[in-house]
Amino acid sequence: MKILLFGKNGQVGWELQRSLAPLGELVALDRHSREFCGDLANLDGIRQTVRQVRPDAIVNAAAHTAVDKAESDVDSARSINAEAPGVLAEAAHAAGAWLLHYSTDYVFDGSGSKPWEEADPTGPLSVYGRTKLEGEQRIAARCAQHLILRTSWVYAARGGNFAKTMLRLAAERERLTVINDQFGAPTGAELLADVTAHMLRGALTAPAARLAGTYHVAAAGETTWHGYAQFVLDCAAKSGKVLKASPDTVDPVATSAFPTPAQRPHNSRLNTAKLRGAFGLQPPAWQQGVARMLAELT
Ligand code: NDP
Repeated sequence: MKILLFGKNGQVGWELQRSLAPLGELVALDRHSREFCGDLANLDGIRQTVRQVRPDAIVNAAAHTAVDKAESDVDSARSINAEAPGVLAEAAHAAGAWLLHYSTDYVFDGSGSKPWEEADPTGPLSVYGRTKLEGEQRIAARCAQHLILRTSWVYAARGGNFAKTMLRLAAERERLTVINDQFGAPTGAELLADVTAHMLRGALTAPAARLAGTYHVAAAGETTWHGYAQFVLDCAAKSGKVLKASPDTVDPVATSAFPTPAQRPHNSRLNTAKLRGAFGLQPPAWQQGVARMLAELT
């Protein structure tokens, strides 16, 4: 199997370089790659890349993920999140390849408390959510052999993340203030990359394209950013780390306490029953991945 990966240095892209490697030949690109164009802003360039590489599967982990910046950078967000995935879908279809792409719970309006199912009505609240939804629609219309993985609250060990920020702040201050009215499941880039490899292998070996479609992929369980912060500080305390703040001194606040240009959904819960049924995969509890990531920090 030959796999063409876009966005190789993002949180998920980095882990995909590991998880996709055993599946076959991997051509992994970022926007600065020289041999083949990996810049999603260059539509002709990425078309040509697919024609030259002739992959069996394209995995697109590149995106305009700066949610607040996207509010004032609409053209760029639309180009990367909507137009480029549409072009990759056309190119994949022409090459007879599968396209695996990532989307987000931000395509929903965040109402209610029920975990979102794949067929629930969408209603994005932000430019990021709208452009990601447009990307999904373009892919579904142009390439039957597609897998769209909607996920939420992605973190990775590499680079900055929420847990590391909480640990830094907890070392500096006795009290922290964290939002407690947004609900979701922190999902590791490692988990997403592993699930991606299993899904790709399943789809490419299944008869016809019966597994194609949109899937919700997130760690099991739910929390708030406040609960997430408390869990991080609890793990740190148990591992002997000396901090000024503790789980008891993390104060809960409403989202309105931290105004941002882009509106975030309150309900980011994703129902993963379709993934579990179609692929037989069992996302582990969110605490497992976060605890592992924290253990690797020390
Ligand atoms: P990251 O922001 O870590 O990575 C995105 C990557 O896309 C970066 O490496 C970035 O490169 C690259 N990129 C941006 N613009 C271009 C371009 N013009 N050409 C090529 N590459 C480009 O995102 P994640 O790994 O967290 O996200 C992976 C997927 O998951 C995305 O589709 C995202 O929408 C989705 N998702 C993410 C969530 C999250 O919480 N992070 C939640 C839900 C869904 P550079 O560094 O050079 O800018």
